[in-house]
Amino acid sequence: MNFDTKTVHFQDKENTKNMSKTKPIYQTSAFAFSDLDDMESFYQGEKEFLYTRFGNPNTEDLGKGVALLEEAEAGVATSSGMSAILAGVLAVVNPGEHIVASEDLYGGTYQLFAVELKNLGIEVSFVSFENQEEIIKAITSKTKLLYTESVSNPLLRVEDLPSVIEIAKQKNLLTMIDNTFATPYFIRPMKLGADLVIHSATKYIGGHSDVTAGVLVGHEALISKAKTKMVSLGCNLSPFEAWLACRGLKTLSIRMDRQSKNAQALANELSTTNGIERVYYPKELSKKGNGAMVSIELSKEVDIEQFFKSLSWIRIVPTLAGVETTVTYPLRTSHRTVPDETRNKLGITKGLVRISIGIEDEKDIIQAIQNAIVKAQI
Ligand SMILES: *Cc1c(COP(=O)(O)O)cnc(C)c1O
Repeated sequence: MNFDTKTVHFQDKENTKNMSKTKPIYQTSAFAFSDLDDMESFYQGEKEFLYTRFGNPNTEDLGKGVALLEEAEAGVATSSGMSAILAGVLAVVNPGEHIVASEDLYGGTYQLFAVELKNLGIEVSFVSFENQEEIIKAITSKTKLLYTESVSNPLLRVEDLPSVIEIAKQKNLLTMIDNTFATPYFIRPMKLGADLVIHSATKYIGGHSDVTAGVLVGHEALISKAKTKMVSLGCNLSPFEAWLACRGLKTLSIRMDRQSKNAQALANELSTTNGIERVYYPKELSKKGNGAMVSIELSKEVDIEQFFKSLSWIRIVPTLAGVETTVTYPLRTSHRTVPDETRNKLGITKGLVRISIGIEDEKDIIQAIQNAIVKAQI
């Protein structure tokens, strides 16, 4: 099956008992057994489900579905993107060991690595992944993992994954890639040789801003370890949330296709719009398109407060990836606590606006953004 067909049919096989067209929600905390032998069969690996924290048909579907699309051997769903990262890291890195991570990571991940992992005895070095020399220089005898994002936030830098993976292989390290912004529709890091891939399924996998969820996919042995972490930490996903994310996943291809077309049109149009210093939009993310996020740097002649007040139907929402176009202001949200110096180095300036492009008519999106810029001219 090709990618677009897989996204629609990944759940079909199991709906055999009552032949329901869609997957039922197994809204249960546990599963019943007919006798002790029957219960024993779970521990022998013959039965899949015992207790929902260990696994549930709906959460299983989400893990398997994303694994199928990412061309990974296995997958596990978790309560959030953050817990997918945590379960993945703890599966492969022990206290006393070391991670080399990109310096422009998602704010939550930076926090998890710099504070929580440090407290657990895992050190993380943050370096520019644009410079391979810096990555190599940061690797020590304790290093176990290289961690980065296929597309960065909010400046949408496209990672050179083949080079990062090449360094890891030469140095005998594992790679873990956050593929949230790119989605498997555009990029599949496992095919390039990555070991683990994580998603905040809260974003494009779910796609409708109605669920918080995470997925980790990768080699069978690593996912099995991560699953044990997930079960022990109790960061399992609820059946209903998993069901919602699976329902969203079915339309991933058509959403990404439309959203990236709209984003490309907006990026093109804004590159010649007065009042904009710079447009951040990937050039060659994939043959299918360049993703659905556009960031812009407004010039000093545009009043930022007034711009956000003049957006008509576009709402200010500090997340991304829904079917609605939304905007956010990194300086006062995701990068609020980042020191000025680091912010300037990363290019998170006063004029920076991040736009998550939805499935609306592209003309309406372009017009709403351009009108807001005109209204906010000083
Ligand atoms: C949102 C996000 C996360 C965290 O995911 P949650 O579902 O909010 O826990 C991690 N990485 C990236 C790139 C994200 O956008």
